[in-house]
Amino acid sequence: MEYTEVIEMIDKFRDARGWEKYHNLKDLAISVNLEASEILEIFQWKNEQGSLSEEDKIKLKEEIADTLIYLFYMVDKLEMNPYEEIQKKVEINKKRHWKQDK
Ligand SMILES: [Mg+2]
Repeated sequence: MEYTEVIEMIDKFRDARGWEKYHNLKDLAISVNLEASEILEIFQWKNEQGSLSEEDKIKLKEEIADTLIYLFYMVDKLEMNPYEEIQKKVEINKKRHWKQDK
């Protein structure tokens, strides 16, 4: 599935439920962090990542998807190209943390 198809799918889901009115940047940012906290919750009380059960891994993937969905709503609202922004940020990070790439 292409990125634009993902956006269409999540927009259709949101619009069918009349949730667009709640999707301002502030509440989307809060939602990103709440979903990211659900990722952390999976690791709570576990000693290491290797201790995740198959059920935990399924849950982890679901929570990563939830977090990405809210990030994609923010990306769409800002009319940004996420791949270009990542590319720009990696260039900034390269200058900030200089090391010869292999
Ligand atoms: Mg969730």
